[in-house]
Amino acid sequence: MEMEKIIKSIYENYAGDLGRGKVADYIPPLAKVSPDKYAISVCTVDGKRYNIGDYTEKFSIQSISKVFTLAMLAPMVGKELWESVGKEPSGSPFNSLVQLEYEKGIPRNPFINAGALVITDKLVERVPDLNDKVLEFVRGLAGDDDIFYNREVAASEYVTGERNKALAHLMKSFGNFKGKVSQVISAYCHHCSIEMSTEQLAKAFLFLANGGVNPLSGEAVVGTRDAKRINAIMLTCGFYDESGDFAYRVGMPGKSGVGGGIVAVIPGKLSIAVWSPELNVHGNSYRGIATLADFTTELGISVF
Ligand code: GLU
Repeated sequence: MEMEKIIKSIYENYAGDLGRGKVADYIPPLAKVSPDKYAISVCTVDGKRYNIGDYTEKFSIQSISKVFTLAMLAPMVGKELWESVGKEPSGSPFNSLVQLEYEKGIPRNPFINAGALVITDKLVERVPDLNDKVLEFVRGLAGDDDIFYNREVAASEYVTGERNKALAHLMKSFGNFKGKVSQVISAYCHHCSIEMSTEQLAKAFLFLANGGVNPLSGEAVVGTRDAKRINAIMLTCGFYDESGDFAYRVGMPGKSGVGGGIVAVIPGKLSIAVWSPELNVHGNSYRGIATLADFTTELGISVF
């Protein structure tokens, strides 16, 4: 079946599939999002675009931003980055403190909150005007300047984010966090609050489907080696304690966020972004995962 038909048939199949999860409400402004939003966007590395549903509507990218900040930092720091953060699946929820205590403040990977806080700490240390630079970076990836922070979401997450502050303080007690906790958490909350549409997200992830080079601009965002590594970590760690199940069902490296977005890539071929705000118990969009599982099955390609 051709791509357009596959996407349309999946969309129609899941359009009414609601009520099996819950829109995130632990960051209060996220709870205002309508649960029935649904969008799919695909970009191929050779320039084809497919979109359906609410694909121009922007939503909170939340933890999807962890991929952007890792991609920004990776070329600045050598392999010593992996002394401060691991590259193993955590098997734990995104904001868990338990593992961090017995692993002496070294987070399992950059895609759980503790790991992303280490990445943000290192960015704060190296990049003046970090929030402006992150936005510039993401806009450059998407080839689109119409991407902004949602200050209400950032402020609300800062105020309610006691677990993130606890993670940062715990890592500081182990010497794995240099900056001021309030400054780093504020930057992290801003990055999570970026709003993008699936159309913009699919474009912004194309560089990971293209060996680190953004096919929109021809620019090398990260080297081939870092692209391989980021994809490997997305495959093994992109969905918290559901990463194994996602790899099994979908077979693509990807990253989810509690705003209900998921972005995934098939290296050499395409990137796909899905948005559906109702989340399962792991904090991942259940309709997003079902969409992607059907996508790779019906298309007959995945990374395996
Ligand atoms: N901003 C969220 C938090 O730190 C990110 C979690 C997510 O999207 O999975 O709680």
